[in-house]
Amino acid sequence: MAMLEVKNLSKSFGKLHVLKDINLDVEKGEVVAVIGPSGSGKSTLLRCINQLEKVSGGTINVCGTEMINYSDKGKPIYADSKTLRDIRLKTGLVFQNFNLFPHMTVLRNITEALTVVLKISKQEAAGRAMELLKKMGLETKADAYPSELSGGQQQRVSIARALALEPEILFFDEPTSALDPELTGEILKVIKALAADGMTMVIVTHEMAFAHDVADKVIFMEDGYIVDEGSPDHLFGDNASDRVKQFLQRFNS
Ligand code: ADP
Ligand code: MG
Repeated sequence: MAMLEVKNLSKSFGKLHVLKDINLDVEKGEVVAVIGPSGSGKSTLLRCINQLEKVSGGTINVCGTEMINYSDKGKPIYADSKTLRDIRLKTGLVFQNFNLFPHMTVLRNITEALTVVLKISKQEAAGRAMELLKKMGLETKADAYPSELSGGQQQRVSIARALALEPEILFFDEPTSALDPELTGEILKVIKALAADGMTMVIVTHEMAFAHDVADKVIFMEDGYIVDEGSPDHLFGDNASDRVKQFLQRFNS
């Protein structure tokens, strides 16, 4: 079953065309890595899918529900607010800079959406949060504030926060780019464990060895287009397009 179907997606900021005719399918349990140079539109793609930006054209279908329809004149019309909310609950996004609430404890960072959005009791939310913190190796940090944690720990909290809402598909936008190299590995390990659990994921990353290892499919974006895509062996192999090879050279040297 398709968890995500993006068709002919375009996005402009004024005259700047950032996404141009993006087509992307993600099946249940599939892990898709998105690579490409800075400014190619990777974050904007994730932000459009996660309803943080409005599209200029094209459609996004999450778990069988269309986010956008079109008027006769071709103007995008978003679904009603209940439908959008339902879709939002099916997707989770983990940011490069963690985006934790600085004034809330680790526990409350995770329980807040559960109690406020899902109306789950405080007690049950805390139980779910503690279970996830244990899974992330952070059960002793429940009462700490984000500023008291390392970057890697903060990122694990933000992954736990996303998982607490039990998304059908989880998106990561360069989850290790803000981390020191020695902390990168702990996050990649967590993501690998999620992949082994069958989590459907789309991961924007510059960690090429990790992408090769964990992804079922790799997408190369440049200048708002998907320029090449395929299995990791294709994208990281001799048959990739010259542009991909040129891009990857940077990471091999
Ligand atoms: P990537 O994540 O691949 O580095 P982005 O999606 O962040 O690329 O950005 C793609 C292009 O869109 C860049 O040229 C960027 O400057 C531009 N852009 C992103 N967000 C905005 C915005 N809110 N307003 C105007 N331009 C934007
Ligand atoms: Mg980006």
